[in-house]
Amino acid sequence: MAGPVKDREAFQRLSFLYQAAHCVLAQDPENQALARFYCHTERTIAKRLVLRQDPSVKRTLCRGCSSLLIPGLTCTQRQRRRRGQHWTVQTCLTCQRSQRFLNDPKHTLWGDRPEAQLGNQADSKPQPLPNTAHPIAAHLPREKVQPQAPVTGQECNSSSR
Ligand SMILES: [Zn+2]
Repeated sequence: MAGPVKDREAFQRLSFLYQAAHCVLAQDPENQALARFYCHTERTIAKRLVLRQDPSVKRTLCRGCSSLLIPGLTCTQRQRRRRGQHWTVQTCLTCQRSQRFLNDPKHTLWGDRPEAQLGNQADSKPQPLPNTAHPIAAHLPREKVQPQAPVTGQECNSSSR
């Protein structure tokens, strides 16, 4: 990420707690209570300071009990069909709360969309005026536009795994 990050220390703390939870579970899979405590603390800090968590992090934390969701260990992941669409259903084994994700390879997260990036870049870089029909494709070098494709693919893989 370009530009200065607000609340850098808080983000570092969130990152530490999230990684600590992974570490604890990797060392001893029985130690789920400690991992849950780390993740609960992490979510509380993020909520209090209103820091947006990346979806890749948010989706691995149970919304009910703050467990770190690892398929096969603390949650199950199943493929379901509903209303003609395929969903990945993730169920927490601690509190049985489930989350559904639509399996849509074309889905782009809001943060990965060009229109979401414009606002972020406005304070760090001078932006071309958005008067033209395709301001991004016309003015930015190709590399800036392209990385979205692999990100979308990753998102698809991780939600269907
Ligand atoms: Zn849970």
